[in-house]
Amino acid sequence: MKKQIGVVPLGEVPAFVLKVISANITAYYKWPATVLPMRPVPKSAFDNRRLKYDAGIIINELDTWDFSDYSKIVGVMSQDIFVPIFNHVYGQAVQGGNLALVSLFRLNRNTDGSLPPPSLCYERAAKVALHELGHLFSLFHCDENKCIMHFSGAIDDLDNIPFYLCRDCERRLTP
Ligand SMILES: [Zn+2]
Ligand SMILES: [Zn+2]
Repeated sequence: MKKQIGVVPLGEVPAFVLKVISANITAYYKWPATVLPMRPVPKSAFDNRRLKYDAGIIINELDTWDFSDYSKIVGVMSQDIFVPIFNHVYGQAVQGGNLALVSLFRLNRNTDGSLPPPSLCYERAAKVALHELGHLFSLFHCDENKCIMHFSGAIDDLDNIPFYLCRDCERRLTP
């Protein structure tokens, strides 16, 4: 299978964010990334109690769609997502698998509620995408806080991690 990554907007996602994400993927992992046509956000993933989307259900849904020209798929959506153990997450991925998801919902606000400049929102989106792709490339969370695989539970954590892998993760990376 070709080393191609598909970036799929789920619902309305600003075109420029998709470009920034795909450009960063191509630059960092050296796999060409292409923005694919928009698909709907799977309605079955909406949780009526939490009022946000279940990331696992969306990933299962992505798995049923035909992306045969692409070896890895990164879904990007504007709505909020969660996983059972976390109230919200910036992204989710199948460890060592082919499918990842990025949510832009919480990237457009700072911790104090202020609005970040657009460039910072793009940077955050690209970092989440690179982090989730790291999981697809079998990398786990890293203790080193100067590493894109360091876990970010809050937006400040995400702003503090760099755009690159630490040397240990870089060595483990086998794209
Ligand atoms: Zn992670
Ligand atoms: Zn690392």
